[in-house]
Amino acid sequence: MQDEKKDIKSFTIEELTEEFLAMGEKKFRATQVFDWLHKRGVTDFNEMTNISSGLREKLAERYQLVTLREVRRLASAQDETVKFLFALPDDKVIESVFMKYKHGNSVCISSQAGCRMGCRFCASTLGGLERNLLPSEMLEQIYRIQELTGERVSNVVVMGTGEPMDNYDNLVRFLHLVSDSAGQGMSLRNITVSTCGIVENMRRFAEEGLPVTLALSLHAPNDEARKRLMPVANKYALKDVLEACDYYFEKTGRRISYEYSLVAGENDKEEEADALGRLLRGKNCHVNLIPVNPIKEREYKQSSFKNVLNFRKRLEKYNINVTIRRELGADIGAACGQLRKSHLDEASETGGLL
Ligand code: SAH
Repeated sequence: MQDEKKDIKSFTIEELTEEFLAMGEKKFRATQVFDWLHKRGVTDFNEMTNISSGLREKLAERYQLVTLREVRRLASAQDETVKFLFALPDDKVIESVFMKYKHGNSVCISSQAGCRMGCRFCASTLGGLERNLLPSEMLEQIYRIQELTGERVSNVVVMGTGEPMDNYDNLVRFLHLVSDSAGQGMSLRNITVSTCGIVENMRRFAEEGLPVTLALSLHAPNDEARKRLMPVANKYALKDVLEACDYYFEKTGRRISYEYSLVAGENDKEEEADALGRLLRGKNCHVNLIPVNPIKEREYKQSSFKNVLNFRKRLEKYNINVTIRRELGADIGAACGQLRKSHLDEASETGGLL
């Protein structure tokens, strides 16, 4: 059965070498296959033209070549953002976003199919968690987007559907694979991992020696307001989450990025900007203000632009570095999980047919 075959794209080069030696194959063959998988992004063993057909058959018998299938694509008319809906090998769907910036191309990838964190304003969590994504499935989002757009991707944000710290081992393996110079060789400094604040794993992550940027989804300056927006705040006190961020900075030297989605009347008042300023004052950090993207399942509304600007002005008084996230692809529902959610809604209306 297909599922019982080993996932060849999730092996590190050292593991792949072990596999090859155990099969009685030469070490350099593993390097060649790794190159086909991770540098050239092939989707079939038969594309590996410097590998004998005998070995290609042997590989196909033992290994599964995880590949994502494009289900839908939405291109923004306002900017060059493209949103992809991909089917996993078991037909579950995920979404990924391609964005063009002056400093290079960026891809926002999903780390899980669905999510169990329950953030109130987020579409990705409405149907709960289906399953964790494999390292190969995280990589594939980048490989397929490079192939489909013909563009090179230099930056990755793990900010799509899912909570990366809830899929910890696969996330760390993905980071090793994507940065391996025998594959994509992407700079870890160009990668951002965003978390809603799972304290133990943030601390563990600090110890991995991976210089990625950690983004914390803060969204409120105190526990009460945070609990209203994010159920995870019932489990972890803000104080402990911020201490884990400080620890991450201490260990990696990477400045933390705090994400704050502004929701009208919920977390955008002047006193909340002041409380946030007092909380983060003196930290080597950066605050990203994101006018919340309203989803149809919830009542939340975006803060007015005037409030957003005012919020930034007040924060800057505390000498905090603030940016307002430019809204890319607003016309294609680029907010987390909206495309996947509408696809799943349509599929259930049509009896599950894609
Ligand atoms: N689970 C991780 C990463 C995925 S969400 C996390 O919580 O950080 C990526 C970011 O988008 C988070 O900051 C999340 O809170 C935010 N987000 C989700 N839905 C949003 C929406 N509708 N509008 C604005 N930001 C949203």
